Amino acid sequence: MIIQLEKQISRSAKAKLDQALQAIKYSTTEVKTQFGSYLIGIGKSEFDIRTIGNLEGIRDIHRVSDAYKLVSTKWKIGKTNIDLGDGVSVGNGAFQIMAGPCSIESEEQVISVLEHLKENDIKVMRGGVYKPRSSPYSFRGLGIPGLEFWYKQAKAYGIKIVTEVMQVSQIEAMLPYVDIFQVGARNSQNFNLLDELGKVDKPVLLKRGISGTIDELLQAAEYIFSNGNEKIMLCERGIRSYESAYRNTLDLNAVTILKDKSHLPVIVDPSHGIGVRKYVSKMALAGVITGADGVIAEVHPIPEKAFSDGQQTLNYSEAEKLYRNIHKTRKLYQEL
Ligand code: PEP
Ligand code: MN
Repeated sequence: MIIQLEKQISRSAKAKLDQALQAIKYSTTEVKTQFGSYLIGIGKSEFDIRTIGNLEGIRDIHRVSDAYKLVSTKWKIGKTNIDLGDGVSVGNGAFQIMAGPCSIESEEQVISVLEHLKENDIKVMRGGVYKPRSSPYSFRGLGIPGLEFWYKQAKAYGIKIVTEVMQVSQIEAMLPYVDIFQVGARNSQNFNLLDELGKVDKPVLLKRGISGTIDELLQAAEYIFSNGNEKIMLCERGIRSYESAYRNTLDLNAVTILKDKSHLPVIVDPSHGIGVRKYVSKMALAGVITGADGVIAEVHPIPEKAFSDGQQTLNYSEAEKLYRNIHKTRKLYQEL
């Protein structure tokens, strides 16, 4: 059960509500976000919803029996639009392309990518300064110094930054430079990290775990929301399957299902989703047709020389063709 509270609920009204919930043996968790105050009630007994809904200080009450609640469509009318600042937003009809290299490598590379994005009217640049790598001997990112020069350049171009945070201790130092925190697939169920990102007033792009179910992704998002941050994007980036002809299985079923089960925007990552450069663009378009609110794609000036994930990274001309086709496909989707 979700109880939406009035912003200024009085102490006596709160006490009456607590009493009513105790009477039906519901335990509660209070949630305060940037946008609202909620009480999450967990219990088994049947009761007349009006006995609580009619109490003073309550805006609305909803029965939501799924394990995830605040991220569910079952209580919220309409879809969530996340404001990224400067007139850029995502969700509820607003679509964004996020593009850039797997890893931030140099200031020169950053400027080249920003120039490319600007020319193509793309508002968000992706890139990693903390890279989760299977081998400890692979390039693991430039860390804060890389983020600093990236931020300086991105600001000058008026382009937003989405980048991965791998652990709680990195949040504070990254905070001034980041527009969207990415939680990578390997950290999708790092509940301590999710808790802390819930306390930050910055959007979070939450990727699905390598072997994560749709339900687990939604519950991971619930961690962020229930800690106070409603600005969450869900990202389908492919799951591990038995197939070896490609890197991951981009689960486009999940896009339609997530859009149905949650009011949060859904972003498709075709680069990690299939992991093979020549197939990436078509999978991106398939993601758009399934209703994604955005695409995040790996793009590099010279993919063959990329420090990481070059095999799935588009060059500028491939990327430009993809952007044009995304806009066309988006129009087609809107007509469906
Ligand atoms: C990335 O975006 O480069 C990345 C490491 O993604 P994922 O967590 O989906 O593997
Ligand atoms: Mn990558």
